[in-house]
Amino acid sequence: MEKKELKPVEPREFFGKNEELACPVECGVMAHAFMEECLEKFKRRAKGEGRTLTPWKDFSTAHLFERLLEEFQELIDAGDEKDTLSIMDEAMDVANFAWFIYEQAKAAHEAGA
Ligand SMILES: [Mg+2]
Repeated sequence: MEKKELKPVEPREFFGKNEELACPVECGVMAHAFMEECLEKFKRRAKGEGRTLTPWKDFSTAHLFERLLEEFQELIDAGDEKDTLSIMDEAMDVANFAWFIYEQAKAAHEAGA
């Protein structure tokens, strides 16, 4: 996994301008770095056979939930093996499938569902 330079990001960029929601700066930096890692993995994986750049449009909700559960099991297995690189990798897979499901739900919500 390629190591990236962490960019300082103000937490308010992630959590809004409400001062009561302020959190340590490293929280925003960590969230941003994780998001970038997830996006890079998504782009690498999207080139594979049977994959797309818009899975939230191209796969059923049931399929995405099924894949999320598979990735979650892979994360648990990696945790059981205490394999830190695999834990990081599978956590990104779980996050990405949660993201796809989020996008489907958001689109349905905005369409009035
Ligand atoms: Mg996986």
